[in-house]
Amino acid sequence: MIYLDNNATTRVAPEVFEAMRPYLTALYGNPSSAHTFGRNMRLAVERAREQVADLLGAADTNEIVFTSCGSESDNWAIGGFLEQNPTRRHIITTHVEHEAVRNLCTHLAEIGCEVTWLEVNQSGELDLEHLRQALRPDTGIVSVMMANNETGVVFPVEEIGKLVRENSNAVFHVDGVQAVGKIPINLRQWPVDLFSLSGHKFHAPKGIGALYIRDEVKLPPFIIGGGQEQGRRAGTEAVPYIVGLGAACELAKNFDEHANILGLRNRLEDEILATIPHARLNGTQNRNQRLPNTSNISFEYIEGENILRHLDEAGICVSTGSACNSDSQEVSAVLSAMNVPYTAARGSIRFSLGRYNTADEIDYTLSALPGIIKQLAAMSPPQGELKAS
Ligand code: PLP
Repeated sequence: MIYLDNNATTRVAPEVFEAMRPYLTALYGNPSSAHTFGRNMRLAVERAREQVADLLGAADTNEIVFTSCGSESDNWAIGGFLEQNPTRRHIITTHVEHEAVRNLCTHLAEIGCEVTWLEVNQSGELDLEHLRQALRPDTGIVSVMMANNETGVVFPVEEIGKLVRENSNAVFHVDGVQAVGKIPINLRQWPVDLFSLSGHKFHAPKGIGALYIRDEVKLPPFIIGGGQEQGRRAGTEAVPYIVGLGAACELAKNFDEHANILGLRNRLEDEILATIPHARLNGTQNRNQRLPNTSNISFEYIEGENILRHLDEAGICVSTGSACNSDSQEVSAVLSAMNVPYTAARGSIRFSLGRYNTADEIDYTLSALPGIIKQLAAMSPPQGELKAS
């Protein structure tokens, strides 16, 4: 199997698994217990908190709270802020957020909040002037992702944070789920108040995430119960998963490995665009503003689902957009927001590489893909008919 779907999820790194193993077997104590066995679990949790804080460049380890996933972190950041500040009901976000933010904001609009949706251009970039104009005295929270899960387009969160600070009293939340482990982050320096991450996107297991909460920002607890996580999220800590997240952060600090991923991604992308007719890149051409591992490419007039199936039969795993909507026939909301024509948006494939991909795998993909596209193009309805539909 050739796995080119690392934005959907990643393999647990062997180093991460080894770090977790003792906590799944012999070291099963409860970090809240007063005996030595329990206190050692507490030490493991706090060590992991330091590792997460270090990767994010957080000023204080207490700014990191463990959660179960990225969606929980996003929901807590935005929903918690509104619960704490019920009169500041104006939210600003973008049309290209992950469902965890987009669907939450749609729901909040239905129950009385006012949401301003920022648009992106055809390259998937944000119009910062629109953001400046949208900021108001009653704006409570601005939520913008750092890197887009479908296209890999990276938003300038430091610049956005400055704009928010200079023009409003709003709190700034960043969905950093796709950015962590792929590009450097420095929350000590950046004007970001809340930052979400998810372990399974960078080689920790599924079921663990974190929310960075800047020291000055107060959120009500996400789960009410015992005093875990300083009373901010009750429930006995998932020690093995927390240890795994810490180990994954340690691993991700080695950004040299990203040069390898970048090289493979660039070769894959360049060759596809150069050799396959009607292939077009979705997202900015400027590779400095895109994640090093992601290429979203449309094969015009062909259905992405069919390409996915044929690649799957060839042993290659890709995605037609975000994993959450890969069963639906609808065109991706992200590509729609970018005004990608229908005939291209339906034929979009996301290739997302990771630390375990090899040059041979890219060669194999590049040898299998042109034949699949040629075969499907021959079977696809005439271009006029597709356009009409
Ligand atoms: N935010 C972004 C940008 C994502 O890509 C994802 C997952 O794909 C999430 C949030 C949700 O993360 P999780 O699957 O951990 O809930």
